[in-house]
Amino acid sequence: MPPYKDYYQILGVGRNATAEEIKKAYRQLALKYHPDRNPGDKAAEEKFKEASEAYEVLRDPEKRRLYDQYGHEGLRDSGFTGFRDFGDIFGAFGDIFEDLFGFRDSRRTRSGPQAGADRRFDLEIDFLDAARGTEVTVEIPRNVNCGTCNGSGLRPGSRKTICPVCGGRGQVTQTHGFLRISTTCSRCQGLGEFIGDPCPSCNGRGRVVEKKKLAVKIPPGVDNGVHLVMAGEGDAGVRGGPPGDLYIVVHVRPHELFRRAGDDLLLTVPISFTQAALGGVVTIPTLNGNRELTIPPGTQPGETISLRGEGIPHLKGYGRGDLKVQVNVVVPRHLTDRQRDLLQQFAASEGTTKTFAKPAPAKGWLEKAWDFISSFTK
Ligand SMILES: [Zn+2]
Ligand SMILES: [Zn+2]
Repeated sequence: MPPYKDYYQILGVGRNATAEEIKKAYRQLALKYHPDRNPGDKAAEEKFKEASEAYEVLRDPEKRRLYDQYGHEGLRDSGFTGFRDFGDIFGAFGDIFEDLFGFRDSRRTRSGPQAGADRRFDLEIDFLDAARGTEVTVEIPRNVNCGTCNGSGLRPGSRKTICPVCGGRGQVTQTHGFLRISTTCSRCQGLGEFIGDPCPSCNGRGRVVEKKKLAVKIPPGVDNGVHLVMAGEGDAGVRGGPPGDLYIVVHVRPHELFRRAGDDLLLTVPISFTQAALGGVVTIPTLNGNRELTIPPGTQPGETISLRGEGIPHLKGYGRGDLKVQVNVVVPRHLTDRQRDLLQQFAASEGTTKTFAKPAPAKGWLEKAWDFISSFTK
């Protein structure tokens, strides 16, 4: 046999054949040489493959043009490799065989072990619990094998019913003239048997939803969106397959005082303007209870005092972030007569009584915005 045969000759059509003529020619050849009709016949097998390859090329306008112009070489250069096996052919021309034989190449329903599905559970916890770590008990619904029927779906003591339609073979064979056609049995979905007397606990599913209480360890330092994986705590596997995993997605409720920046803990503390000027000691909350914080004299509004290692524990590895305390200097809205008197004396001591009403005007937001904009137009 020469290495390359002419595709038009294989299909027995002229070079100007229409798409319809090509399809018709292929159908006839496929019918004649179909492996189901010629079991074990190597020559028929070869013809079937040959015709399929010819059809694959000639039905596609672009491949056909390449073939017409450059022959087999042109196709090879374009990456065309033909078919490896029958599976390829049935995959590509399933529709043709479907209307030839009235079925699509059947695939038996899976009946082996199957892994259980993973489950997700959203868990909301307090800010401080996330920072310090905790243990919570959650109730997770999941599919488990039915205890009444051990997952078989059968009423205890009953057996599966052999499918009366296919006699347990899972396939139904029909004869159309000279063709014998096997199709998947629709009554039993190809399994050959089915549950005639279902288990009353699970209605034949073999599985029931069960809520399981689980103690979940929340490691110190978890942040919003962290996934904690609990291996094997998802749905039970089917027919001896392994169970799925449980993914616990952590959501942390915001705290009214603390915020978080990475593993640093942020806290804003109000101090009076005299504390800022003179220095002093204030009591602040931390993750480990209250503690005293020394405010150095001359602390400016917005200044941050860092307390090393008083932040959030690192989730991975040792140590922890810092506690960053930002001071918010509070100016009194109301003064007693005595306070005003003292402050005026203080002002007099600064020698600024006459000038402090008119400090150099700071730039307002609008001027800053204008500067910013004009910096682009220079
Ligand atoms: Zn059951
Ligand atoms: Zn059946």
